[in-house]
Amino acid sequence: MSNEANPFESLQQQIHQAATELDVDDDVINRLSNPERVLELNLSVELDDGTIDVVEAYRAQFNGDRGPYKGGIRYHPGVTRAEVKALSGWMVYKCAAVNVPYGGGKGGIKIDPAEYSESELERLTRAYAKELRPLVGESRDIPAPDVNTGQREMNWFKDTYETLEGRTEPGVVTGKAIESGGSRGRVEATGRSVMLVVREAFEEFDWDIEDATVAVQGFGNAGSIAARLLDELGANVVAATDSRSGVYSEDGLDVAAAKAHKSKTGALSGFDGATEEISSEELLTMDVDVLIPAALENAIDGDVAEEVSADLIAEAANGPLTPEADKVLAERDIYVIPDILANAGGVIVSYFEWVQNRQRFSWTEQRVNDELERYITEAFDAMIEAYEQQEVATLRIAMYTVALKRVMRAAEEGGIWP
Ligand code: NAD
Repeated sequence: MSNEANPFESLQQQIHQAATELDVDDDVINRLSNPERVLELNLSVELDDGTIDVVEAYRAQFNGDRGPYKGGIRYHPGVTRAEVKALSGWMVYKCAAVNVPYGGGKGGIKIDPAEYSESELERLTRAYAKELRPLVGESRDIPAPDVNTGQREMNWFKDTYETLEGRTEPGVVTGKAIESGGSRGRVEATGRSVMLVVREAFEEFDWDIEDATVAVQGFGNAGSIAARLLDELGANVVAATDSRSGVYSEDGLDVAAAKAHKSKTGALSGFDGATEEISSEELLTMDVDVLIPAALENAIDGDVAEEVSADLIAEAANGPLTPEADKVLAERDIYVIPDILANAGGVIVSYFEWVQNRQRFSWTEQRVNDELERYITEAFDAMIEAYEQQEVATLRIAMYTVALKRVMRAAEEGGIWP
């Protein structure tokens, strides 16, 4: 995976490209392309052997003009201030792109969670929640899961917050377990939005999804669920990789069996339904119809983009393409459905979870999925309309212009105070 692009610079370029199309004043863009605040922490955590570890952690609140800050918490050794800032900015434009009433935030702890026991992770999560307590809340800033965090961490976070506040407030985080106030359909939501945008694109371009070949880089929550739902739609998932290994079968992988194998053994490697083992680099340039990068940022740089053979890329991960890759793919007429739309299912269903928490009323899974489909198809149509009317170079720029207009309007209407 290339690290050539600073994710924060990638974000700023994306905002500036859209701003150029819309002819926005520099001072407005300056305000909307930098975070309002970034909290940097050194968390102390007692390890099981009694020693103390000090770890770096962050929370960035990028923009709150359209509503409370919203965004996940990532546990990864690659977490940096620049990465958290970029991810928080992407959340602003993602929420605006799909029109949910949130701003954007993001947090991260710079650790490899595999090196910590469950009780150490719990103490670390609780220490982080304690530090964030004054900044978060259902009307302030609402964290959620991201890479290497899930329901367990959200439950610890919520419990710490509620204990310190002395009241229940399930809407302080989303992505919780159902029993702790989570929403039906949340676990599948990101993969489901990836499936929906691919389906919409095939309809828009008049392509046939039946037996269309798909390759998925990153077989975690987003990637494996997108793969399963595309498989159910009739597509043929021929390749998948994780951080250590990858598998290929010309006739298509049995996605559920591959997932079960990974859950059991921790890796895709050794899956007996595959005919070949492949690397992530091989997967990215494979001759398939649809490529789904669903791992981390900067997976596809300019050089890899020259070799991509897919007709369509749906960005399940956040920021998987460098700006150079974007340029190359546009020149090569390869469509890219941008992350701020393709993976927005997670935040949309997080929004539904928060609405249900505030109403103290839970929806059926069918209602969640139907509403998700409505939000995604409306945003997809808005993107296509902007793409055609403004004659911009990429679907990404089109989606950013839709989102930026919404954020600008909210910022202008709110004004600056004092
Ligand atoms: P996850 O931890 O469940 O899965 C990540 C997967 O990527 C794992 O299978 C890991 O092995 C694999 N991976 C890591 N490095 C890789 C590499 N170099 N090559 C191939 N595979 C590699 O995380 P996730 O929640 O699925 O998140 C994946 C991406 O989707 C991230 O960019 C995240 O920000 C984005 N995303 C997730 C959600 C969500 O709701 N889960 C929502 C929006 C965006």
